[in-house]
Amino acid sequence: MPAFRPQRPPLPARLFRAGAAVLALLASAAAPARAEGFLNPAGIVLGGTATFRVDIAPAAFPDAAIHWTAEPSSRVSFLSGSSGRTVTVRGNTPGNVFLRVEIDGYAGAHPVANARVVPLSIVKADAWIIGDGGVWARTEDEVRGIFDDVNDIFSQIGVVVSLDSISFTNHTGWLNFNPRANNWAVPNQITSITNGTGGLVYYFVGNMGSYYGLHNGGDILIKNTATGVTVAHEAGHAFGLSDIYTAQTNETALAVSPALEPTLGNMPNDWGSDSALGFYSAGLTHSDIVTRLLMYGEGDSGDGAGIDLSYGDVYGLWYEGVQHQRQWQLSLAPVGFFQHANPGPYLK
Ligand SMILES: [Zn+2]
Repeated sequence: MPAFRPQRPPLPARLFRAGAAVLALLASAAAPARAEGFLNPAGIVLGGTATFRVDIAPAAFPDAAIHWTAEPSSRVSFLSGSSGRTVTVRGNTPGNVFLRVEIDGYAGAHPVANARVVPLSIVKADAWIIGDGGVWARTEDEVRGIFDDVNDIFSQIGVVVSLDSISFTNHTGWLNFNPRANNWAVPNQITSITNGTGGLVYYFVGNMGSYYGLHNGGDILIKNTATGVTVAHEAGHAFGLSDIYTAQTNETALAVSPALEPTLGNMPNDWGSDSALGFYSAGLTHSDIVTRLLMYGEGDSGDGAGIDLSYGDVYGLWYEGVQHQRQWQLSLAPVGFFQHANPGPYLK
């Protein structure tokens, strides 16, 4: 029984980088959001650096009154000091770390960011570009650019996808096809091109109808209009993560309430310290967070949507089973990289 699964519609080719865990924010209506590099990533590479930020209003509130501590303190070093809205840390020893923010004169619960210091993991990948009659799904340069985007996304959890080879094969009927025809015959033929590489194998094809990515373990097919976000998303599946949705109205009445606010209960391993608080920006809904995740099953066209990797699982709509046997549930979805992902089988 083929296990190919349909994946997301396209996202903008230009990747924006966003905070992995969403910016923490106290008593502020300021916008969260984009900055250079990932803010508040779930992972800190051993010997590498990561930037964490908390937004605190008013803007005149002094940086000198904002203090960060790490627990355990040996896990990271603060480069350029441990005060202010933004700090940069270096990973010193592998393991979990809590970064706590103390604010002079503030008596409420304090923000805590959860992260893990990890050795860099290098995942092996090979790519095949499919052609038919001299028409090719991609150029070699396009594929290399896509993997640059993939590695930008995975930098937030200390994973590098190493593209070991790019090969071409020309075959009638393999460029544009209906993947479900004849019980997934063409996807099964294409993924039989190579086996036992020990890594991920990507097949860049042409048009697969409504499917942007399909995966069966480490064998992955990518439509010619899909971006690096789809390529990274499919790797997330190969590592064991599920899709997460806010709603799937054609398949289930279950849905994330549009009014639901982010709380620690909704993302228990990311930002918090008080179960009623998530320390996210004012006006941000939990659905907003779901749509920012790489494992969001239906990317939208918003800039930067769908590239965050959370440390832990996130409340949302998800399913077990494949295709016709989907069992939808509304609970903590297994999308947390450090709770449910295992790139181990594909490491170099
Ligand atoms: Zn998916």
